[in-house]
This record gives sequence, structure tokens and C-alpha cells, in this order.
Amino acid sequence: MFDINKTQTSDIDTWVIGNWKMNGRLVHNENYLEKLLSKTENLIMDKSFFCGLAVPNLYLFQFSNRLLDSGLFVGIQDVSSEDDDGAFTGDISAEMFTEFDCSFSIIGHSERRVKYNESDVNLVNKAKASIKNNILPIICVGETKKDREQGNAIKTISSQIQNFTSGLSNMELSRCVFAYEPLWAIGSGKNAQPSDAETMHNLIRSECVKVLGEDFVEKIKILYGGSVCADNAEQYFLQPGIDGALVGGASLEASEFYRIIEKAVDSTMNR
Ligand code: PEP
Repeated sequence: MFDINKTQTSDIDTWVIGNWKMNGRLVHNENYLEKLLSKTENLIMDKSFFCGLAVPNLYLFQFSNRLLDSGLFVGIQDVSSEDDDGAFTGDISAEMFTEFDCSFSIIGHSERRVKYNESDVNLVNKAKASIKNNILPIICVGETKKDREQGNAIKTISSQIQNFTSGLSNMELSRCVFAYEPLWAIGSGKNAQPSDAETMHNLIRSECVKVLGEDFVEKIKILYGGSVCADNAEQYFLQPGIDGALVGGASLEASEFYRIIEKAVDSTMNR
């Protein structure tokens, strides 16, 4: 399991996170893991590379068993904002997830913000609960197509980041990783231009630096997500301000996801 108290996010140069969303079945997962692990076992993945899969909660046990000692981590796609056990029907707490070796949580994915009306306060509490339980939070932000067309992309991202940073202590914020995921790029096949993504990553970084101070500028890790696939991943890894990728659809096929991992490992060596 990844330990946020021992390894700082700033020690990791390249990140690849797969988000399976609501996909998978026991037998399919087994075949996928067999295929993926037979390939990754020959890859040299040092400590400056982080690769994980966020799978549906029901399959955590299966994944955490198979990924043990593989160099890959298992994570969750959401977590309760409540920290103590109690009357929260349907919720699963960060502490419960630690029993399944969960190393990271995806927080504020646009599908949850939009479909489940996640409020910024809720997201802050989810991040706090994750950090308290040694789970690394990956905070998603992103603008809609309309925001971009109307020239409001910068305003939207700044305000999402400010709402988030204002709720956390500096220690908590320094333990978060961010993902820039423009909504129009998610699942659409229309990935953002790497240079546009770089601009937004610099914006996210500068908003965090306002809180954490200039010394943190190189330490804040930001992934790009939105129709990343094996054929376009490398362009993102080559951008100095992009520290990795959050991959949805392309993480569902073992050989496609492996090709992305391979590109990321190569780029880590060249950084
Ligand atoms: C996502 O769901 O976080 C995502 C980036 O999806 P996709 O890669 O399919 O666009």
C-alpha cells in the first residue's frame, strides 16, 4: 500500500491512474489482471512512478489481492465525506477502504459533481477523510464545453481550486494530487491539445502556490484526463507541467492500458 506519510507526492515524477467507472465482472477482471500483470512484471517501475487502478468497490478485494507486490496500486472512485461510523446508508468510509489496501481516492470526478450534485464542501470533507486514513486524494477539476466556448474556462478552474484549497490546511493540501479533466474531453474522443492542458495545469499550480508558497511550485502534481489513449498519451507525458494521466475508457483494455504505462515509464526515465 502507498503510504502518504512516508512518500511525498513530490517524489513521484509520473502518474498513470486508470478509472474503471462502473465496469468489470469477476471473470473479466481476472483475465484482465492476468494479462496486465504478465506484462508489467517485466517493466522496471521505480519509486518515482505511480500506477493505480480505481475499480468498483465490489471488486476491491479481488484487485488488492492480485496487485499485492505488483508495483501497482488499487484505489477507489469515491469515498464518504463522513469519517465516523454511523447512519449513512450506502456510504463507505475511508477507514473501511484501508482494510482493502486502497492507496488513493478519486474525488470530485465530473460524473459525480454533475450527476450527484457533489458540493465543494462535500469534496473537501472527502479529501480530509482520505488523508486522515492515509489514502491519497486525487482531486478532479474541469470546465464544461460551454465554459470554454464562452471564455470562462480559467474562471471556472480557478474557482473550483479556490473552493477546494480554502477548506484544507496546508499540510492537507500538500498531500493532494490534482487532475485537470475538461468535461468535453471525457469519453468523447476529443482530447485537449497538450499545450492547452499545460496552460490549465499552470493555472492550477499557481492557485495552489498562492496558498502553499513558491517553494511548492515544483511539488504540486497534476494529471491530465480526457480521452487519453495509447496513441496520444506520450504527448502529455512530454509536457513539463503535466505529471501524468487519469485514464478512463482506455484503462479497460489491458494491452491498451499497458501501452500507456510503458510510455509513462519511458518518459519518467527521460525526465
Ligand atoms: C475519466 O473518466 O476520468 C476519463 C478521463 O475518461 P476517458 O479517458 O474515457 O475520457
